[in-house]
Amino acid sequence: MASNDFNMDNQWLPFTPNRAFQKDPRVFVAADGMEFTTHDGRKVIDGISSLWCVGAGHNRRPIAEAIKKQLDTLDYATAFQVSNDRAFEAATLIADMAPGDLNKVLFCNSGSEAADTSLKVALAYHRARGEGHRNVFIGRERGYHGVGFGGMSVGGIPGNRKAFGSAFLPRVDHMRFIHDPVHHAYIHNQEPVWADDPLTDLEQRILPLHDPSNVAAIIVEPVAGSAGWYLPPQGYLQKLRAICDKHGILLIFDEVITGFGRMGTNFASDYYGVVPDMLNFAKCVTNGVIPLGGVICRDKLYDQMMKTDAPEHVVEFFHGYTYSGHPVACAAAVATLDLMKNEQLFSRAAEMAPVLGDAFHSAFKGLPNVIGIRSLGLAAAVELAPMAGLPGKRAYDIFVDCFHKGALVRPAGDVIVIAPPYIVEKSHIDTLVNTLADSIRKFSA
Ligand code: PLP
Repeated sequence: MASNDFNMDNQWLPFTPNRAFQKDPRVFVAADGMEFTTHDGRKVIDGISSLWCVGAGHNRRPIAEAIKKQLDTLDYATAFQVSNDRAFEAATLIADMAPGDLNKVLFCNSGSEAADTSLKVALAYHRARGEGHRNVFIGRERGYHGVGFGGMSVGGIPGNRKAFGSAFLPRVDHMRFIHDPVHHAYIHNQEPVWADDPLTDLEQRILPLHDPSNVAAIIVEPVAGSAGWYLPPQGYLQKLRAICDKHGILLIFDEVITGFGRMGTNFASDYYGVVPDMLNFAKCVTNGVIPLGGVICRDKLYDQMMKTDAPEHVVEFFHGYTYSGHPVACAAAVATLDLMKNEQLFSRAAEMAPVLGDAFHSAFKGLPNVIGIRSLGLAAAVELAPMAGLPGKRAYDIFVDCFHKGALVRPAGDVIVIAPPYIVEKSHIDTLVNTLADSIRKFSA
């Protein structure tokens, strides 16, 4: 198929330089296992699990079969005032996988909706406890929580905000991000240890400024994925948990990327041994096949809001989406999580994590413009020195070049990330890493 076989006039591509794309279209028409096929018949290795979604690899028959069966049985039912069997089944499976008393699942359709939902739960919970003054949220400078107004208000990544003026600023202060100092920029499958405590600013400036009793929640990605796989230093998440406990602040983990196996565990929460009050998920829960997201809440949140003395019929959480608990999406989730369990894919991710880390550190260390390499779980990032006046340009050019050589990698500012499906083989990792190394050399000349 040639690129003029499809009309590119009408799809406005998200997060994409559209004009440049139209001159050099990158279009997939099929996928299987680790590989895509492009419109012009070339194979491209999926080095990023298609935006961190396809943990089990592409075209997995049990998931497709479950979706077909569900379509033939119950195609759709609302979850408002009624429900469906598949939604209960998925919720139980997910709650069973979640740590601690994270037991109540609110379904939505995406990571962005999960972010907004979790922030609204936090507000409603505090109001139900008679602490309605708690309406300050704290996020991180490099946090990404999707593109809804809530998620944007607690997210950093300046490039995502600047086109929209100051619309996303109410009630948000950013704690200083866990800055990645140069002397710790090379991190190889271990939790980094930093000289400075990145939470000092939170404790000594941000919380006193707002008064901790006004803070509803702190939201973080355990590992900052979209910004470029920035790892928390040792003890960071544990300390954040202690600070939240001390001040009655809810802790939200956005595990849209880290959930369901990326760290080799069910959740990053298990990896770090820290249980948040809410855990947001999406992406890998359905292997990316059908949109599904959600927030897993601790029992105390549900109990506070739903087990009140008010007449039963007025006690509800006034929030939800038309497609919350969609039976087809939930069937996809059940099949995905069963498949991942049967094939022990989370253990496989853990097994392949050092293979990816080793490959990154041996291929990229010492290459021109490489100023950092971070690997942990089945994801790794190589950070490049920005070009003067053109931030992100080098990584973007390298991404395009890699694509043409058959490797899909992910540029994030001046960082390039690889996060392959858990079924990845060493040969795929070698191809991805060698392709990327060639391109880094090429664009350093
Ligand atoms: N939260 C995190 C941590 C993410 O990485 C993403 C997407 O990459 C989102 C939220 C937004 O998810 P979605 O694009 O499904 O709205």
